[in-house]
Amino acid sequence: MARRLLIVIDGPAGAGKSTVARILARKLGYRYLDTGATYRVVALKAREEGIRAGMTMELQRLCVRIEIEFEDTEEGQRVYSDGRDVTEAIRTPEISIMASRISQERVVREAMADLQRKLGGPGVVAEGRDMGMVVFPQADVKFYLDATPQERGTRRYKELLARGISATLSQVIEETIKRDEEDQNRKVAPLQVAQDAIYIDSTEMNAEKVAERMLTEIENRW
Ligand code: C5P
Repeated sequence: MARRLLIVIDGPAGAGKSTVARILARKLGYRYLDTGATYRVVALKAREEGIRAGMTMELQRLCVRIEIEFEDTEEGQRVYSDGRDVTEAIRTPEISIMASRISQERVVREAMADLQRKLGGPGVVAEGRDMGMVVFPQADVKFYLDATPQERGTRRYKELLARGISATLSQVIEETIKRDEEDQNRKVAPLQVAQDAIYIDSTEMNAEKVAERMLTEIENRW
């Protein structure tokens, strides 16, 4: 494949987007763009500064001054907020919920979409909720990755346990469903399956299998 492509993966929380996007990027020699992390960084900074969802002016100012950076290392991608490593701090359940709330604000979405467009382009695998519909409608290949809420909640639960964050399975499944509802029902850029997206249900597939399936789809098209 001579031409470098822009590949996007959308889908709900816990569908396996980030793991699959990382595998795909590695196999293709592309960069991985984690757009959820940009909302998480804003959420963390907002919480530290006492800014809540609904405080539009404050959120807008925060988005203008915040500097979000990614660094690819041997051990994975690191995320920085104004030069501070926040890779772990942005992954708590509390920040997940806060990110979902502040991502409903138009000012936040517009600022993050601008940043994501600067970071995206040919040779990138970008994953999020509105990649194919809003941020990169011109993407060369669009995937929508899904799984049942039960399966997605269980995956998130295992991830949290592995990171030493305590939670109960039912609590995580409940939060997953709540986040789905918020992401699907928000007014600005709700989570939707783009008409030209390739839909994949990963409930009974591991990440390697999903990445292989995606590679086949890409090869068949390009
Ligand atoms: O993907 P991740 O769980 O890290 O995203 C955190 C939150 O950020 C999501 O629940 C969603 O509300 C928001 N998000 C978004 N648009 C994206 C990526 C994430 O609204 N492109």
